[in-house]
Amino acid sequence: MNATRRSFGVYVHVPLCRRRCAYCDFISYVATPESGGRVTAGLLRELEHVPEVRGIGEKGPKPPAPIKGRTLYVGGGTPNILGAGNLGQLIARTRDRFRIPSGAEVSTESNPCANAGVGYFEALLRAGLTRLSVGFQSFDEGELRMLGRSHRSTDTGIFANARRAGVRSLSIDLMYGLPGQRPDTFKKSLEAALSLGVDHVSLYALKLEPSTPLGLAVERGELPPPDAAAADIYYAALDRLEAEGYAQYELSNFARPGHRCRHNEIYWEAGPFIGLGPSAVSDDGTARRRNTPDLEAWLDAVKRGGLPNGDEERPTEEERRLEMAMLALRTRDGLSEKRFRGRWGLGVAEAFPSLAAHLAAGRLELLHGSIPGEDRWRIARGHQLIADRILVDLVGGSSVDRGRG
Ligand code: SF4
Repeated sequence: MNATRRSFGVYVHVPLCRRRCAYCDFISYVATPESGGRVTAGLLRELEHVPEVRGIGEKGPKPPAPIKGRTLYVGGGTPNILGAGNLGQLIARTRDRFRIPSGAEVSTESNPCANAGVGYFEALLRAGLTRLSVGFQSFDEGELRMLGRSHRSTDTGIFANARRAGVRSLSIDLMYGLPGQRPDTFKKSLEAALSLGVDHVSLYALKLEPSTPLGLAVERGELPPPDAAAADIYYAALDRLEAEGYAQYELSNFARPGHRCRHNEIYWEAGPFIGLGPSAVSDDGTARRRNTPDLEAWLDAVKRGGLPNGDEERPTEEERRLEMAMLALRTRDGLSEKRFRGRWGLGVAEAFPSLAAHLAAGRLELLHGSIPGEDRWRIARGHQLIADRILVDLVGGSSVDRGRG
């Protein structure tokens, strides 16, 4: 199918934060009084040029067909830094530009300490917002300080404000595998999150980046290395979330019925997406392009109506196949045999002979007919935390440890 006729996930990156968290290596800049306005203007400008400049999925001289969006995700950074006026305008214009239908999923992220009252959300709802994701990370004051977060454990008003305004879906991010984190401190955070009545929970393992203040503190021995209790925390959380009616649908994501993040599902389905803003990535299934991460270079490029692309690659068919398998195996719906065969003309086991050993050892399971007519491969329960090592094996690789025990 021509990529231009498929619906794209649309991602808008707001690369601004009030300050840098101690563990963060994302592309984000400390905001100044002017930067919110400059970034908004840059994104609106890029929006006007993206389809024509990139001609995603188009070959030859004919003008590119307009891209149609299926979902919108405004992430960061900290999008709430833009304020309701700028952010509302950005959402409305992006929806309009990519013809994202009314009622389609439109998400934004926010920090808990944001000055986001009911009026803020009402303005965003008028622009089309349906979903809010709050990066809370922990309800333990010591952990919040260690992470360099700018909020306190009591800054939960944002959830009530969003709910009161009528935001349909509320999500919270929590982190585990922190240096010194104990199962009981994580449990406290999880219970606090559940008490807020959120619809969706994302559990992220801390990835310790050596160049960050937190990474350096661990390297200097000022903090214990993370991970000691990570497996216990993860599997206990999984059980607790399921008992509360949150179904796991991806390794890190849990949702009440009807509250999965459709935008992220596009990524896991290896569907097409387009990204705006510094460092944002676009992929139409043929070419993958990444905008320059440099804020000033990006602003300069979009001002001139030029390409803000830093680099471009064209993955081979084999690489695409591998990606599709790795992404789908992260989900609880799993990798569809039918879809894989339909796309590549060969079966999953044929493409990845290493899977047979995992299947025999019970680390993978093959579901027959959970969806009529479709066999699906997925990581067996209790082995989710070694998923990365199973996935590495797809490329021909390494040994695999035991799972849950
Ligand atoms: S708010 Fe998010 S993007 Fe900003 S510094 Fe903290 S972790 Fe990084």
